[in-house]
Amino acid sequence: MKVLVVGGGGREHALAWKISQSPRVEQVFVAPGNAGTARDATNVPIAATDKPALIAFAQKESIDLVIVGPEAPLVDGMVDEMEEAGLRVFGPSKAAAELEGSKVFCKNLLYTANIPTASYRTFRSGEEASRYIWDRYGDPSEPVPVVVKADGLAAGKGVIVCSTRQEALDAIDRIASQREFGDAGKELIIEERLIGQEASVLAITDGETIVTLPAAQDHKPAYDGDTGPNTGGMGAYCPTPIIDEELMSKVESDVLVPIVHAMKRARRPFKGVLYAGLMLTAAGPKVLEFNVRFGDPECQPLLMRLKTDLVDVIEAAVDGRLGELAPLEWDDRPSICVVMASEGYPGDYEKGRPIKGLDAADAIEDVKVFHAGTKLVDGEVTNDGGRVLGVTAMGDTIAKAKLQAYRGVKEIRWQGAWCRKDISDKARLQ
Ligand code: ATP
Repeated sequence: MKVLVVGGGGREHALAWKISQSPRVEQVFVAPGNAGTARDATNVPIAATDKPALIAFAQKESIDLVIVGPEAPLVDGMVDEMEEAGLRVFGPSKAAAELEGSKVFCKNLLYTANIPTASYRTFRSGEEASRYIWDRYGDPSEPVPVVVKADGLAAGKGVIVCSTRQEALDAIDRIASQREFGDAGKELIIEERLIGQEASVLAITDGETIVTLPAAQDHKPAYDGDTGPNTGGMGAYCPTPIIDEELMSKVESDVLVPIVHAMKRARRPFKGVLYAGLMLTAAGPKVLEFNVRFGDPECQPLLMRLKTDLVDVIEAAVDGRLGELAPLEWDDRPSICVVMASEGYPGDYEKGRPIKGLDAADAIEDVKVFHAGTKLVDGEVTNDGGRVLGVTAMGDTIAKAKLQAYRGVKEIRWQGAWCRKDISDKARLQ
């Protein structure tokens, strides 16, 4: 069969790499892909958001299965339009993708379905939100532990964690008045700031049955020790010991099952990957957010460990047969992904710097370098985005997987390249 993966990040490289290992797959296309997917699959120069061009390509090539990686095309209704055009697609409909596309929709649904989450208020204007902060936190010396969030998608930047009244008022101003995140800031949320470790639990669902994947832990802040600005994710590992079996069943029963039911009741049945971003608080796990696709970088270490043919799982989800699927098989060894980034990320950065040492890193046992923001220029791999590579490795223990991944990192060089040095260290806090 022929498969088209839509997207061009590390997640899509991992998906294309895994899918191309299926004996049932003849060819994998990635649109638009990157320098890494050009090696493991065939790149198609069509943007991930260009629905008409992608549909025309899939029809012309008689693509048997389309997998949409990123959130933006999902929220924009790519799955609906592709299905209308007669294609088989894995991913949620536009109505279901609103779970990620609108934080207000998500929070209201969590509230009605009684799923644990931070207490919150929604606002339609900056004045209303600022008034709430002034009224609720009158004493200027009092801490203001809130999180201010733009309603819509903002590539991980529309969420501002605050400690003081001034920080909260500034966050409201940036989102609602200055419209730093555009229309994503038309509505905003102020929610209680939770304390705890964060973890990601992903599940594949056909709208009836859920198949839960091992828990992973992302590292969103830019620098070691979870300091610095938030990013798209600087590394991940799985499985994480911070979610044991007991906690995992609690997440399934208190979060995943009720959200699938709530979506069905809301007449937005959810098919695809459900990603619960959780905070493990003293009062139990609480949902920070839902994403409607594989996480990037969580996808890379997860897929490295998956032994089952991913195409079988995805087809079962598309056809509503997940209930008949045998349990997924996993490599027992943990894996970790270290993201290497461009100088200046998550701020501005220069592109086009040649990258060396990729083959040497890939040649290390149990190491796979997934590309994200890379581009081939005159046959040379160059940096073309903020997050450039996800050096992913397995090992008998988390510590050994970490050692192996950083061995890979050491081989790779380009001007200004950097990464966090402490990916997976949180596992030791357990
Ligand atoms: P965007 O919508 O801009 O793409 P996002 O969906 O990545 O952002 P979230 O995952 O909701 O944003 O939040 C980003 C980070 O902010 C979380 O990983 C967490 O560290 C922090 N955060 C969010 N909500 C809370 C909360 N209620 N309490 C404490 N920290 C929070």
